[in-house]
Amino acid sequence: MSDKKRSIKTACVQGGWEPQKGEPRMLPIYQSTTFKYDTSEQMGKLFDLEDSGYFYTRLQNPTNDFVAAKICELEGGVAAMLTSSGQAANFYAVFNICEAGDHFIAMNGIYGGTFNLFSCTMKKLGIDCTFVDVDCTEEELRAAFKENTKCVFCETITNPGVSICDFDKFVKVAHEEHVPVICDNTFATPINCRPIEFGVDIVTHSTTKYLDGHAMTVGGCIIDSGNFDWNCVPGKFKGLTEPDESYHGLTYTEKFGKGAYITKATSQLMRDLGSIQSPQNAFLLNVGLETLHLRMPVHCSNAQIVAEFLEKHEKVEWIHYPGLAGDKYHDLAQKYMPNGTCGVMALGLKGGRDASVRFIDHLKMISIVTHVADAKSCVLHPASHTHRQMTDEQLLVAGIDPSLIRLSVGIEDVEDILADLSQALDEV
Ligand SMILES: *Cc1c(COP(=O)(O)O)cnc(C)c1O
Repeated sequence: MSDKKRSIKTACVQGGWEPQKGEPRMLPIYQSTTFKYDTSEQMGKLFDLEDSGYFYTRLQNPTNDFVAAKICELEGGVAAMLTSSGQAANFYAVFNICEAGDHFIAMNGIYGGTFNLFSCTMKKLGIDCTFVDVDCTEEELRAAFKENTKCVFCETITNPGVSICDFDKFVKVAHEEHVPVICDNTFATPINCRPIEFGVDIVTHSTTKYLDGHAMTVGGCIIDSGNFDWNCVPGKFKGLTEPDESYHGLTYTEKFGKGAYITKATSQLMRDLGSIQSPQNAFLLNVGLETLHLRMPVHCSNAQIVAEFLEKHEKVEWIHYPGLAGDKYHDLAQKYMPNGTCGVMALGLKGGRDASVRFIDHLKMISIVTHVADAKSCVLHPASHTHRQMTDEQLLVAGIDPSLIRLSVGIEDVEDILADLSQALDEV
C-alpha cells in the first residue's frame, strides 16, 4: 500500500488494488483455479513456503488478497485473509491458536451462530469455551481463566442485543493473562470503530453485512494487528512458535514475524479446510467497500432518528439502541464509537409476541429477511424465525425476549422509514 497515512475514506475507495501503467482501473477477477510456472523447482519452492506466489485458489487468489489488503488497511492491521463466510472467519481465528485440550473465553450475547460454533461444534473438537457476561467485572473475567486458556473472544456491538464490549476491560485482563483478544467487528465496521486501536490483537468480520452492504455475497475476513507476542510464554502457542511437521519443520514466528498468524491460517487451515471466498464474491465485496464510508454515517443518523421516534411511541414497550441517551451502553458507545455505532436496534412492543408479529406483517417497505446490516431496511423476529423451535421459557434463558424485534435501519430517506414504521404500529 502506497500511503498508510491516508484517510480511511480514501482507503475505502482506493485501497487494495492499485493499478500500474496500462493495468485495469477496476480490480480484475482472477477467475482461475491455478497459476503457471516455468520450472518444477519454482513450483516446489512455493510448496515449501520458500518463495511467495500463487499456485492454487483454495489457498490464495490475487483478487481475494487485494480485497483483504483493503480491509487490512481499514482496520490498521499488518496482514489479512478472506474466508467464505463470517462463520469460517470466527472458526479459523480461534482454531488457528486453539487445539484439542485447549480452552478459551467468549463474552455472552455474541451472534447466535458464533455461540453455537463455540458451545457445541468446537466442544466436539475438544476445545472448551467459557462464556462470561459482557458486563462482568475484571475479577469475574480473571476467574474464568484456566491453565490452558488461549484467547478471549468478544464482539464490538453484539447481534442482536446491541450490547457494547468494554475493550479496556477485556484487553487488560487478557494481556495480563498472556492471551490475545479476538474481536468480531461486524456491526461497528472500521468506519465507526477500529478495535486494534484499543489493544485488540485480531479482528474478524462477517463481510456479508455492512462491508458488502448490499446483501449480495456471504463472506468473512480475519485481520491480524501483528502486535501479539506469540513467544510471551514459551510453548503456550506452539502451533506458531514450534516447527510445523506439515511444512518440513518450518516455524511460523521465525520465518514470517508479524505475518506468522495469517500465514499459518492460510497455509495450514485454508489448505486443509478450504473455506475460501470465491474471487467473484470478493470482487462484489470490493465494490461494496468503495462506499462503506458514505453508507455508515447514514445508517447511524437514520437509526438515531428512528430510535428516538420508537422510544417515544406509545406502543413500544422497550428499545435498545446505544445512541439513545438513556441506553445502558450509551457511555461505552460514546467512549469507543463517538461518531455512531450501527443501524441495528432491538425493540419489543406492548402486547408481546403477537403484537410483534402483527407489526412486522404490516410493514410495507421494510422487508422481513434473515439478514441485517444492509442498505435496505429490514426486520426479523427471532422467536418466529431464527429461534422458532424454542418455547418462550427457553427463549428467555437464551436472553431473547419473545417479543424482540431486530430492526436494521437502511439508507433510504428516513421520512419513508418512519412512515412505514408508523403505519405498521397503527395496525397493532
Ligand atoms: C452474521 C454474523 C456472523 C456470521 O457471518 P456469516 O457471514 O453469516 O457466516 C458472525 N458475526 C456476526 C456479528 C454476524 O452478524
